[in-house]
Amino acid sequence: MPGIYIHIPFCMAKCRYCDFASFADHADTEAYLAALETEMALCREALPQRLYDTVFLGGGTPSVLPEGAVSRVLEALTRKFRVTPDAEITLEANPGTLAADKLFEYRSAGVNRLSLGLQSANDRLLKKLGRIHTYAQFLESFRLARETGFDNVSADIMYGLPGQTPEDHLDTIEKLASLGPEHISAYSLILEENTPLYTDVTGGAQSLPDEDAAYEMHRQGIALLEARGYRRYEISNFARPGCESRHNLNYWNNGEYLGLGLNAHSALRIGEKWTRWSNTARLSDYIQACGSGERPFAGEPQAIPLAEEMFETVMLGLRKTEGVSDAAFRARFGRRMGEVFPKAIERLEKKGWLAEADGFFRLTAEGLDFQNLALLEMM
Ligand code: SF4
Repeated sequence: MPGIYIHIPFCMAKCRYCDFASFADHADTEAYLAALETEMALCREALPQRLYDTVFLGGGTPSVLPEGAVSRVLEALTRKFRVTPDAEITLEANPGTLAADKLFEYRSAGVNRLSLGLQSANDRLLKKLGRIHTYAQFLESFRLARETGFDNVSADIMYGLPGQTPEDHLDTIEKLASLGPEHISAYSLILEENTPLYTDVTGGAQSLPDEDAAYEMHRQGIALLEARGYRRYEISNFARPGCESRHNLNYWNNGEYLGLGLNAHSALRIGEKWTRWSNTARLSDYIQACGSGERPFAGEPQAIPLAEEMFETVMLGLRKTEGVSDAAFRARFGRRMGEVFPKAIERLEKKGWLAEADGFFRLTAEGLDFQNLALLEMM
């Protein structure tokens, strides 16, 4: 079933590694919320009705919004779109921005899943990343989340950080797992150009772990997460049984989603055509377009050719450890995955990167490590 993503582009401060569409200046908050409501109305008029079963408020840091804003956004959304009563409704939050009254507000607005940005349990590393919080503040946020009734909490951590050792990463996992969140995302730091961290690293002021050390963190981290009861269900995502992110699984199944807000992306079937578009990444353009009653596109919506839709379904599906269901592929495209990609499958199977079993094509553990190369074969 389709999901809805809502982008909230405000943060307390800009992290040193971040190139997302997010701003530490909150002067445009009210104008942005008004524009978001207008965009909802414009999409409601323009798009065929669907039933959505996940909503994800991401950013940015949605928890920096002033009191009442999350309720206002979700009320506007449910007035305009049909959302199932048992929808998974996630809100991204950062330690240092949460208090009990905010969490109570989120609960009564319908939020039933929190995604907390921890990144590391080591304050020295958090400081190097320019994070606004300490580990102690994460612990306080986690405690408040539980006390206010959140029984589905995810935490994000990162490895490959400047000055990080494999022991630091394992210590973060050990501490986090002992708290028992339902879900953990463990991402590798991506050094993005035009960020302060990029300048630090290229200028020699900070250095990142080399490829071997980062790979060790990744490998040992997976083993420890699995030993602590978190099943790896996607390259970077781990969950207690039954606590996988429904919203993200929909992306990896190449399902339909509607993105609302600055720089948000959408993919929906319109008529017979798989159609994708994205919104502008410029805040002033977003507010102005919505204010003039226009959808805030970055470019014209694109109808995606069938071959590309098939490739993307495989590319995204192979991120999941369960792989791509041949039956689901055939139900969607009328052909078996093996008929569409016979040579690539044969080459990957020979390398030991892909296996077919129980009606699924899945990457092996080695194939998951070399996922980008494996997908090049598919292309
Ligand atoms: S909290 Fe997230 S979105 Fe905001 S600046 Fe940091 S990394 Fe970027």
